[in-house]
Amino acid sequence: MFDLHMHTTYCDGKNSAEEMIISAIDKGLDTVGLSGHSFTPHDVSYCMSREGTESYIREVRDLDEKYSGDIRVLTGIERDYYADISNGEFDYVIGSLHYLFKTDKGCCDIETVPGKAAAGSNKSEESGAALWTDVDDNPDKLIDFAFRYYGGDLMCLAELYYETLEDIVSVTDCDIIGHFDLITKFNERFALDGQGRVIDLYSESAAAKNVRLLFDTSDERYIAAWKKAIDRIFEETVIQRCGRGDTSEFAADDSLTGADRNILHPNRLETLGLLRAGDKPVFEINTGAISRGYRTTPYPAQDQIEYIKSRGGILILSSDSHSSDAIGNRFEELKHLTQITCS
Ligand SMILES: [Zn+2]
Ligand SMILES: [Zn+2]
Repeated sequence: MFDLHMHTTYCDGKNSAEEMIISAIDKGLDTVGLSGHSFTPHDVSYCMSREGTESYIREVRDLDEKYSGDIRVLTGIERDYYADISNGEFDYVIGSLHYLFKTDKGCCDIETVPGKAAAGSNKSEESGAALWTDVDDNPDKLIDFAFRYYGGDLMCLAELYYETLEDIVSVTDCDIIGHFDLITKFNERFALDGQGRVIDLYSESAAAKNVRLLFDTSDERYIAAWKKAIDRIFEETVIQRCGRGDTSEFAADDSLTGADRNILHPNRLETLGLLRAGDKPVFEINTGAISRGYRTTPYPAQDQIEYIKSRGGILILSSDSHSSDAIGNRFEELKHLTQITCS
């Protein structure tokens, strides 16, 4: 069994790389992958620094040698959509979206402020207000962002999130799609009361109040947004396998079949012998929010898992651990949801 998504003290994790590896050995994993948060210039609060990234790569490679008799250690990266890094030195890449930037994506016709151009400066010159928000830091930030730019329509945030996620494969050249519906992180635990205030449903006094969820995941706008993102991710993965975004050299050769394309640029996890992906994307079933007390179910939601499966996508288990005790959390009970074939 493998777990390829975890964080250390190089970014926002609680344990060192070595402590994480020792815990993975104790839990009986045969392969462990560390996946530090990539450097994001507009928000350095949680990610690895540029220098730290170099030390991280060196240390994890050394630890792979040190523990080679016990476990296989991979040097991965959780690459944010807005990161400023290259993938060259990593064994594999998890592509994740952790931010919403005020752009013309989503439902609302507003002034365009491309996310990448805004990176490095998070303030609007006129208002002094942040042009971006974290998706997963706290629910108040999301609500503030929705009211500041989208008239309080939270569904606009969901549409913005999924529309941005549509090109996660071409932007990050990733092998794994990270926590696909992160936008719903707070949906189980937090809600809005009649005055638009965020309340914690895990507190008993809140449970009886008249509240509505942050995101109605049965809303047809919500469903259309995530289906479009998944469809686009499948399309982009075929292009990625053809030449990691550059299809020009293969365009003239119409004899290429899906199988030939796999030989051209396989998913890095396939090269590592962990699974067979062919020209299909790999999504993680991520138990991180369960470990941290925000949810009782993993990402993605069950209807999204079913849709990914119906299209032939690959699902793997990830703990997104930020501490050594969370490695492999709930894998036994959820492993029936995955469908991995090893080469
Ligand atoms: Zn993440
Ligand atoms: Zn993570």
